[in-house]
Amino acid sequence: MERTLILIKPNAIQRGIMGDIVTRFERKGLRIAGIKMMYLTDEILAEHYAHLVERPFYPFLKASMQAAPVVACCLEGAEAVETVRLMVGVTNSRKALPGTIRGDFSMSGEQNVVHASDSVENAIIEIKRFFKEEELFDYESAVTRFEYGGEETAKFM
Ligand code: UDP
Ligand code: MG
Repeated sequence: MERTLILIKPNAIQRGIMGDIVTRFERKGLRIAGIKMMYLTDEILAEHYAHLVERPFYPFLKASMQAAPVVACCLEGAEAVETVRLMVGVTNSRKALPGTIRGDFSMSGEQNVVHASDSVENAIIEIKRFFKEEELFDYESAVTRFEYGGEETAKFM
């Protein structure tokens, strides 16, 4: 099944809403394959945001991502990358639809609560960046057959 990477950002840790974020993904039916708290080094951050290091706002983004630990989370489900991006909402939280995580929990384009992988290819790279093999767990979800239909089970699992 497809996997994606989430980072619950330092602003969410400081505001005491990490549980709310994790709960949303659990309630949706995404299986948590891995979860851990960590500080982001300059190196891992420059790699993770390589597409943004030259942008004028990068120093602010860097400071915000190192202001507290993050919680990295590997989520698994059918079409998990696209589904999680829809749950997260657009980058600028003020424009993110109500009902999305950013739309419900943030007023900011920078302090926007959560990172989510934007493509299946990037998800594979990002999961490797943040998790060692032994930190990801293949336990069987007892409720999968009540979460997906027969046709979906054949297609995605
Ligand atoms: N960001 C920012 N200002 C911008 C664009 C992005 O501070 O104008 C920050 C914001 O925290 C965002 C992160 O940089 O989540 C990564 O940007 P990206 O374009 O990859 O957005 P995302 O994939 O997180 O929606
Ligand atoms: Mg992005």
